[in-house]
Amino acid sequence: MKLSSVSVMSIIHDSVVDGEGLRTVIFFSGCTHQCPGCHNPQSWNVHHGTWMSVDEVLGEVLRNPMTDVTLSGGDPFMQPASISCIARGLKLFGKHIWAYTGYTMEELLTNGSADQKQLLSYCDVLVDGPFKQQLRDVSLAFRGSSNQMIWQKVDGVWFPNPKYLPPYCNDNRTVTSLC
Ligand code: SF4
Repeated sequence: MKLSSVSVMSIIHDSVVDGEGLRTVIFFSGCTHQCPGCHNPQSWNVHHGTWMSVDEVLGEVLRNPMTDVTLSGGDPFMQPASISCIARGLKLFGKHIWAYTGYTMEELLTNGSADQKQLLSYCDVLVDGPFKQQLRDVSLAFRGSSNQMIWQKVDGVWFPNPKYLPPYCNDNRTVTSLC
């Protein structure tokens, strides 16, 4: 494995269920959160994917000029250095980036590594937190349990997107802006 390579489960084009609009979704391998009830446990082992160079991933994603991009998995924040390179390349082509992670926004901002913070800086929307079976709610858009929040970045500051706040207390999380 080279630093500039990433383990990828699959890349799918034209998804309408992994974020707003039409999106190309990159499912990266590797996740240590091991949430009970995870929809994709085969992605936990980083070696279950195909090792691809940053350029190979960018080439496949940019083959589709119509879509924005979602980083999913697995957890993209488990391979943050290489995926930051991919995200930086996508921003050069004007792509809007959603990312899914099992970390909370608060964890990434306070205890995240430099590479994780770099990757976060390229994202426009973050769907955060582990999947919690006891908070599973199939009525929620774009996430599986109500502890997960959909954050949007406005002028460099992260806000929970008010469109997606559940109408009840979700795991006692504080709904404030973060930067
Ligand atoms: S963070 Fe996502 S991929 Fe990882 S174990 Fe939890 S639900 Fe599965």
